[in-house]
Amino acid sequence: MTLRPKLALASLVCLLCVSPAIAQQTSTPGMQPETAMPSVLSVPPAAQASPQFNVEAATDAYLAEIPAEKRAKSDAYFEGGYWLILWDFLYGAVVSLLLLKLGCSAGMRNLAERVTRFKPLQTWLYWLQYALLTFILIFPLTVYEGFTRERKYGLATQTFGPWFNDQFKNLLINLVLGGILAMLLFGVVRRVPRTWWIWGSLVSMTLLIFTVLIAPVYLIPIFNKITPLDDPKVTQPILSLARANGIAVRDVYQMDASKQTTRMSANVSGFGSTMRITLNDNLLRRGSAEEIQMVMGHEMGHYVLNHVYKGMMFFLILTVAGFAFLKWSLAWSLARWGESWQIRGITDTAVLPLVVLLGSIFFLAMTPVLNTFIRSQEHEADMYGLNATRQPDGFAQAAIHLGEYRKMSPGRLEEWVFYDHPSGRNRIRAAMRWKAENLSLVRATEPSAAAGQHTGLHSESTNQKKAAR
Ligand SMILES: [Zn+2]
Repeated sequence: MTLRPKLALASLVCLLCVSPAIAQQTSTPGMQPETAMPSVLSVPPAAQASPQFNVEAATDAYLAEIPAEKRAKSDAYFEGGYWLILWDFLYGAVVSLLLLKLGCSAGMRNLAERVTRFKPLQTWLYWLQYALLTFILIFPLTVYEGFTRERKYGLATQTFGPWFNDQFKNLLINLVLGGILAMLLFGVVRRVPRTWWIWGSLVSMTLLIFTVLIAPVYLIPIFNKITPLDDPKVTQPILSLARANGIAVRDVYQMDASKQTTRMSANVSGFGSTMRITLNDNLLRRGSAEEIQMVMGHEMGHYVLNHVYKGMMFFLILTVAGFAFLKWSLAWSLARWGESWQIRGITDTAVLPLVVLLGSIFFLAMTPVLNTFIRSQEHEADMYGLNATRQPDGFAQAAIHLGEYRKMSPGRLEEWVFYDHPSGRNRIRAAMRWKAENLSLVRATEPSAAAGQHTGLHSESTNQKKAAR
C-alpha cells in the first residue's frame, strides 16, 4: 500500500495545482539547474502584437525559444514517466503476489492475532507490518524514481540524507492515516458483509476529504515551510486580482519548494476555511511579473470554478466504481486462490495485498479517465486565468518554464492518455489564440515586448540570482 496512497495523494495534488508538484526532492536555493530556461523570457518577434499576428506562427516562435537539447532532455524525462507507470504497477504486483504466495500475509495476520484479541488493533498491527515490509521491498524503485532520476535530470536539489528524511516522514504519515483507513474499512466489511463496497466508498471518501482539509495546516508543513508572502510588489497585484474576481483573500502564501525541487508551481490546497493559494519560491524567483499574474489567475480559476468540490464528486464516483470492481474481483480471486494463500475471506486482514493489487489494476485502467478529468479542469482554469489577467505572453512563458519537466508537443492520443495538464504546445496555442482575438487590448498594454521592460520583480529576481552566483 506504499505505492497506492502515494499515487492517490499525488492525483489529489495534481488535481489542485498548476503542475504536479508532488514533493520531489532536493535543494540549494538560488542554484540554477542545468535544465533551466532563462528566468524571464522575451516575447519573440513573431508573437508580438501586430496586424500580421498569426496564431500558429506565434506558437511556433515561442516553442523555438527552447533549445533543442533541453527539449530532448525534457521529452526523455516525461516519456520515461510513461514507462514508470507500467514499472510501478508491475513491481507492485510482484510484491503483492509474493506476499500472498509465500504466506507472508497470512503470517503477519497470525502474528497480529497472537498479540491482541481486539479486532481493530489486529488490523492496525497487520497494517504496521505490511506498510513497513512494502516500504522496504519497494524502496529500490522509490530511490530510482524519486531521487536518482530526479537528480539525473537536474530537477532535484536534495542530497540523499534529507531526501530519505522526507521518505521516512511519508512512511510515518502512512502508518497513521493508512492504518486508520484500514481499521475503518475492515470494520465496515465485518459489520455489513453484503453492502460493504458502498459504505466502504463513503468511508474512504470521508477520510480523503478530511485529509484534504487538514493538509495545508497539518500535512504540508511537515515537509515544507509555508509563510505569508509579504512583498507588496508581488502581493498587491495578486490581491487586486482576487478582489476584482470576488475572492475573499487577505494573504498570499509562499512555500520553500526549492528545498526539494527546481520546478516552478503554485497550487490551491485545502477546502472550506483551510482553502488557500500558495506560490512556490521557484516561481517567485524565476518567473516574470506577467507570468506570476497568469499563474495566480489560473489558480483563482480553480477556486472560482469550484474545482475542489467538483473534483471530490468525481473522486466519489470513481471510488464507488473502484469498490464495485473490488467486490466482484475479490470474490472471483478468493474462490480460486483464497485457500492456497490461507485467506479466510474478505473480513481477513491477510487479504490486503490482494486488495492493493486489484485496486492498482483498476487505477491503471482508469489512468486516461483520471487524467482527462483533471486536464479538462486545468484547461478551464487556463481560460479563466487568461480572461482574468489578460497575460497571454505570461502564460506562454509559464508553459515554457513548466516544459522543463514536461514534453511540449505530444501526439493527440499521447496527450489524452498521459497528460494531467494540457500540453505546453496547446497551452501556448490557447494563449496566442486569446491574444489574436484581443489584439487591440494587448497592444494598448504590451510593454514593447522586450524582456528588459518587466517590472521591479524581474530586476530584483535577476539581482538575487547574480548574488547567488
Ligand atoms: Zn491548475
